Amino acid sequence: MGKNEFLTPKAIANRIKAKGLQKLRWYCQMCQKQCRDENGFKCHCMSESHQRQMQVFGQNPTRIISGYSEEFESMFLEHMKRSHRFSRIAATVVYNEYISDRNHVHMNSTKWTTLTEFIKYLGKAGKLKVEETPKGWFITYIDNDSDSVQGEDEE
Ligand SMILES: [Zn+2]
Repeated sequence: MGKNEFLTPKAIANRIKAKGLQKLRWYCQMCQKQCRDENGFKCHCMSESHQRQMQVFGQNPTRIISGYSEEFESMFLEHMKRSHRFSRIAATVVYNEYISDRNHVHMNSTKWTTLTEFIKYLGKAGKLKVEETPKGWFITYIDNDSDSVQGEDEE
Protein backbone atom coordinates (compact mmCIF):
# COMPACT_ATOMS: atom_id res chain seq x y z
CA MET A 1 0.00 0.00 0.00
CA GLY A 2 1.43 3.41 0.71
CA LYS A 3 1.41 6.54 -1.37
CA ASN A 4 1.43 4.80 -4.78
CA GLU A 5 -2.10 3.60 -4.26
CA PHE A 6 -3.12 7.20 -4.71
CA LEU A 7 -2.41 6.81 -8.41
CA THR A 8 -4.14 3.53 -9.16
CA PRO A 9 -7.04 3.69 -11.62
CA LYS A 10 -9.39 2.59 -8.91
CA ALA A 11 -8.29 5.34 -6.57
CA ILE A 12 -8.57 7.92 -9.33
CA ALA A 13 -12.01 6.65 -10.24
CA ASN A 14 -13.05 6.91 -6.63
CA ARG A 15 -11.83 10.47 -6.34
CA ILE A 16 -13.62 11.41 -9.54
CA LYS A 17 -16.74 9.79 -8.19
CA ALA A 18 -16.36 11.59 -4.91
CA LYS A 19 -16.18 14.92 -6.70
CA GLY A 20 -19.17 14.10 -8.86
CA LEU A 21 -17.09 14.45 -11.99
CA GLN A 22 -18.15 11.10 -13.27
CA LYS A 23 -21.61 12.48 -13.61
CA LEU A 24 -20.45 15.18 -15.94
CA ARG A 25 -18.23 12.91 -17.92
CA TRP A 26 -20.84 10.36 -18.91
CA TYR A 27 -23.74 12.71 -19.16
CA CYS A 28 -25.39 13.22 -22.51
CA GLN A 29 -26.29 16.89 -22.65
CA MET A 30 -28.59 16.51 -25.57
CA CYS A 31 -30.72 13.72 -24.16
CA GLN A 32 -30.15 14.83 -20.59
CA LYS A 33 -29.31 11.29 -19.81
CA GLN A 34 -26.84 10.12 -17.22
CA CYS A 35 -24.78 7.02 -18.02
CA ARG A 36 -22.93 4.99 -15.46
CA ASP A 37 -19.64 4.56 -17.26
CA GLU A 38 -17.85 4.82 -20.55
CA ASN A 39 -19.40 1.66 -21.87
CA GLY A 40 -22.87 2.80 -20.92
CA PHE A 41 -22.22 6.14 -22.57
CA LYS A 42 -21.04 4.47 -25.78
CA CYS A 43 -24.13 2.29 -25.81
CA HIS A 44 -26.27 5.33 -25.27
CA CYS A 45 -24.67 7.15 -28.21
CA MET A 46 -25.47 4.21 -30.47
CA SER A 47 -29.02 4.00 -29.23
CA GLU A 48 -31.97 4.92 -31.38
CA SER A 49 -33.25 7.54 -28.98
CA HIS A 50 -29.91 9.36 -29.01
CA GLN A 51 -29.68 9.22 -32.81
CA ARG A 52 -33.18 10.64 -33.06
CA GLN A 53 -32.25 13.42 -30.67
CA MET A 54 -29.18 14.18 -32.81
CA GLN A 55 -31.39 14.57 -35.86
CA VAL A 56 -33.80 16.87 -34.08
CA PHE A 57 -30.90 19.03 -33.00
CA GLY A 58 -29.38 18.97 -36.48
CA GLN A 59 -32.59 20.12 -38.09
CA ASN A 60 -33.47 22.65 -35.51
CA PRO A 61 -30.59 24.50 -33.92
CA THR A 62 -32.92 27.48 -34.10
CA ARG A 63 -31.65 29.49 -31.22
CA ILE A 64 -28.05 29.54 -32.38
CA ILE A 65 -28.99 30.36 -35.95
CA SER A 66 -31.39 33.14 -35.10
CA GLY A 67 -28.74 34.73 -32.90
CA TYR A 68 -26.20 34.71 -35.73
CA SER A 69 -28.81 35.91 -38.20
CA GLU A 70 -29.66 38.93 -36.09
CA GLU A 71 -26.01 39.78 -35.68
CA PHE A 72 -25.30 39.31 -39.37
CA GLU A 73 -28.20 41.55 -40.33
CA SER A 74 -27.39 44.34 -37.92
CA MET A 75 -23.70 44.36 -38.86
CA PHE A 76 -24.53 44.38 -42.54
CA LEU A 77 -26.94 47.28 -42.11
CA GLU A 78 -24.43 49.10 -39.95
CA HIS A 79 -21.81 48.78 -42.67
CA MET A 80 -24.34 49.97 -45.25
CA LYS A 81 -25.18 52.98 -43.12
CA ARG A 82 -21.57 53.86 -42.44
CA SER A 83 -20.21 53.47 -45.97
CA HIS A 84 -23.08 53.79 -48.41
CA ARG A 85 -25.72 55.79 -46.65
CA PHE A 86 -26.56 57.93 -49.65
CA SER A 87 -25.78 55.66 -52.57
CA ARG A 88 -27.45 52.99 -54.59
CA ILE A 89 -24.95 50.17 -54.77
CA ALA A 90 -24.59 46.56 -55.89
CA ALA A 91 -25.34 44.14 -53.08
CA THR A 92 -22.30 42.04 -53.94
CA VAL A 93 -20.02 45.06 -53.49
CA VAL A 94 -21.40 45.73 -50.02
CA TYR A 95 -21.19 42.06 -49.18
CA ASN A 96 -17.56 41.79 -50.27
CA GLU A 97 -16.69 44.80 -48.17
CA TYR A 98 -18.59 43.39 -45.26
CA ILE A 99 -16.87 40.01 -45.32
CA SER A 100 -13.44 41.61 -45.59
CA ASP A 101 -13.86 42.35 -41.89
CA ARG A 102 -12.05 39.50 -40.20
CA ASN A 103 -14.61 39.36 -37.40
CA HIS A 104 -17.70 39.27 -39.53
CA VAL A 105 -20.43 36.76 -38.87
CA HIS A 106 -20.33 34.15 -41.62
CA MET A 107 -23.44 33.79 -43.67
CA ASN A 108 -23.27 30.02 -43.43
CA SER A 109 -24.13 30.29 -39.76
CA THR A 110 -27.26 32.32 -40.48
CA LYS A 111 -30.66 31.31 -41.77
CA TRP A 112 -29.88 32.71 -45.21
CA THR A 113 -28.15 30.44 -47.69
CA THR A 114 -27.48 33.01 -50.40
CA LEU A 115 -26.89 36.73 -50.60
CA THR A 116 -29.94 37.06 -52.84
CA GLU A 117 -32.13 35.45 -50.22
CA PHE A 118 -30.74 37.80 -47.59
CA ILE A 119 -31.21 40.88 -49.80
CA LYS A 120 -34.78 39.90 -50.62
CA TYR A 121 -35.49 39.50 -46.94
CA LEU A 122 -34.12 42.99 -46.21
CA GLY A 123 -36.29 44.41 -48.96
CA LYS A 124 -39.43 42.74 -47.64
CA ALA A 125 -38.66 43.82 -44.11
CA GLY A 126 -38.33 47.40 -45.35
CA LYS A 127 -34.77 47.72 -44.12
CA LEU A 128 -33.28 48.47 -47.52
CA LYS A 129 -34.60 49.53 -50.86
CA VAL A 130 -33.95 46.54 -53.06
CA GLU A 131 -33.96 46.36 -56.87
CA GLU A 132 -33.22 43.50 -59.18
CA THR A 133 -31.42 44.67 -62.30
CA PRO A 134 -29.68 42.93 -65.23
CA LYS A 135 -26.46 43.68 -63.35
CA GLY A 136 -27.67 41.99 -60.19
CA TRP A 137 -29.22 43.22 -57.01
CA PHE A 138 -28.88 46.85 -56.03
CA ILE A 139 -29.59 48.18 -52.59
CA THR A 140 -30.16 51.59 -51.10
CA TYR A 141 -30.05 52.38 -47.44
CA ILE A 142 -33.35 53.53 -46.00
CA ASP A 143 -32.60 56.31 -43.61
CA ASN A 144 -35.04 55.99 -40.77
CA ASP A 145 -33.13 58.40 -38.59
CA SER A 146 -33.87 61.61 -40.40
CA ASP A 147 -37.12 63.13 -41.56
CA SER A 148 -35.57 64.82 -44.56
CA VAL A 149 -35.55 61.63 -46.61
CA GLN A 150 -39.20 60.89 -46.06
CA GLY A 151 -41.26 61.06 -49.19
CA GLU A 152 -38.34 60.41 -51.46
CA ASP A 153 -39.49 56.92 -52.24
CA GLU A 154 -43.06 57.84 -52.97
CA GLU A 155 -44.15 57.25 -56.50
ZN1 LIG B 1 -27.87 11.14 -26.00
